Amino acid sequence: MDQVEYLVIGAGVSGLSFANWMRAEAAARQRPVPELLVLEADSEPGGYCKTVVQDGFVWDYSGHFFHFKDASIEAWLRARMPGQEIRTVAKRSFIRFQGRDIDFPFQKNIHQLPSQDFIDCLVDLYFRDRDAAGGQERSFQEMLYARFGKSIAEKFLIPYNEKLYACDLDTLDPDAMGRFFPHADIGDIIANMRRPDNASYNASFTYPLGGAIQYIHALLHDLPEGSVQYGERLEAVDLRRQVARTSKREIGFRRLVSSAPLPALQRMCGLADDPAWAAWASGFTWNKVLVFNLGFDRKGATEPHWMYFPERDLSFYRVGFYDNIMDGDRMSLYVEIGAARDAVLDVEAARARVLADLERTGIVQGHRLVSWHSVVLDPAYVHITQASRAAHRGLSAILHAAGVYPVGRYGGWTYCSIEDNMLETRELARIFGHLT
Ligand SMILES: Cc1cc2nc3c(=O)[nH]c(=O)nc-3n(C[C@H](O)[C@H](O)[C@H](O)COP(=O)(O)OP(=O)(O)OC[C@H]3O[C@@H](n4cnc5c(N)ncnc54)[C@H](O)[C@@H]3O)c2cc1C
Repeated sequence: MDQVEYLVIGAGVSGLSFANWMRAEAAARQRPVPELLVLEADSEPGGYCKTVVQDGFVWDYSGHFFHFKDASIEAWLRARMPGQEIRTVAKRSFIRFQGRDIDFPFQKNIHQLPSQDFIDCLVDLYFRDRDAAGGQERSFQEMLYARFGKSIAEKFLIPYNEKLYACDLDTLDPDAMGRFFPHADIGDIIANMRRPDNASYNASFTYPLGGAIQYIHALLHDLPEGSVQYGERLEAVDLRRQVARTSKREIGFRRLVSSAPLPALQRMCGLADDPAWAAWASGFTWNKVLVFNLGFDRKGATEPHWMYFPERDLSFYRVGFYDNIMDGDRMSLYVEIGAARDAVLDVEAARARVLADLERTGIVQGHRLVSWHSVVLDPAYVHITQASRAAHRGLSAILHAAGVYPVGRYGGWTYCSIEDNMLETRELARIFGHLT
């Protein structure tokens, strides 16, 4: 049986970052690099940070734009992307509301709405019942009503997020979106009417012209030949013996770091069958997102980088314009459709509907579709609920005790960015560096 010190599952951002940070940690402590092997089920690296280059268009698996808070992380990546042009772009994003485009976020730009909608939003905001839940909102939906009032909640925040998450928002945790939710209090909202300040976590973003995969290439840059095995899937883990069974062999490990989705890891570790653990398994729910990348014969609107669509009659919740980020001369869109995890998707029918809806919104105006691609991200947005938090806590305790560490957006069952994935795995490597 093969044996490694560190077995890493997944060659996405999280798995590859961890492999790099372990090397950096060893160098900093002047120790030999630990024996480490990355297993990737797919035939290529990247996970959700893959890029499709087709007919002159460059598309990601849905828009992937980068907002680095820690300059050292971005500098580390850029140092490993020689020759790659990286744009820094000041974001222009809009919400299509009853035929007009208003700035994002909705709650800070209600003064741009038609006057009756503006009055409704302002009056309901002022008289919102902050005390309804005694300051202790129970769910994401309750939080929206309590902080923004009925009209802001019902005209945008609820329909938009229902389309995205494809679930009842009353089941989600009040903090389900963490720092990604643009909070604003009544003072911010009123002040924004005179002096716009729509800064958010992603007020500007960077984007490599070669697409998100360039970050993956940077993460592969320093890893020795053979440290990533493609086409090898983790299938089961014997926690007691610390042995992984893959689609090809058995591998003993001292520590296993997994970016596979947590419910799948739970099953692979034999922690789903016992009734005591079955409740945790049922605590995990999520949506999937059908993404269409669409290339047209000529340019369309020149301003937006992306747009939000709360209207329930439109199939998509968001549309992004790659060509306005990369200065392309042909309209290049990504279109995102949220779906329940068990929904049966008819991709052909969905594509026809998307094209019709794009015409309805005026984004497509007699343009000819010349190239297209689709992908289903499953899971895409995990549902952060009281039950999922409890399941994550309980499983982590059992897994850590056996030397197994779930990481990343889906291992950690959370809402995060690629930078968060890199920071999390750097911290884990530091902890292992101390322990070793
Ligand atoms: C719609 C959408 C838009 C996003 N936009 C942005 C954005 O603009 N900016 C940003 O910073 N982030 C964005 N993200 C988040 C970003 O995609 C993730 O944070 C990041 O890709 C997660 O990387 P990961 O390595 O944790 O997981 P993944 O990318 O899911 O990688 C996991 C890898 O593990 C492999 N794997 C799984 N199971 C097994 C197994 N049993 N055996 C072997 N291999 C296995 C998979 O094949 C995959 O390659 C977005 C996410 C979504 C869904």
